[in-house]
Amino acid sequence: MSSYSYLDGNAAAGELSRIFNIDITAAEGQCASCGAKRRFAEAHLYMQCPGLVARCAVCGDVLLRLANADQRMFLDVRGMTYLSLDTSGIQESV
Ligand SMILES: [Zn+2]
Repeated sequence: MSSYSYLDGNAAAGELSRIFNIDITAAEGQCASCGAKRRFAEAHLYMQCPGLVARCAVCGDVLLRLANADQRMFLDVRGMTYLSLDTSGIQESV
């Protein structure tokens, strides 16, 4: 495990809300490495890079990477088998 300090997944809410019109921190994801199913808010978040990295709270492998470059945002979610989102609170736009 890294000795860098980390925040919890809630710290990613601001940045991720620029992409997802939904509260991703309440979503549940499965780690592609160890199979742990956890709420995204429980992930360990590292923000000292140009963007952010979320790591599995169980095995420490990367779940999600987000980087900003020029006018683009790069989102790498291959560390998750799936991300399950609660859509019950979403207002349908007409
Ligand atoms: Zn894991």
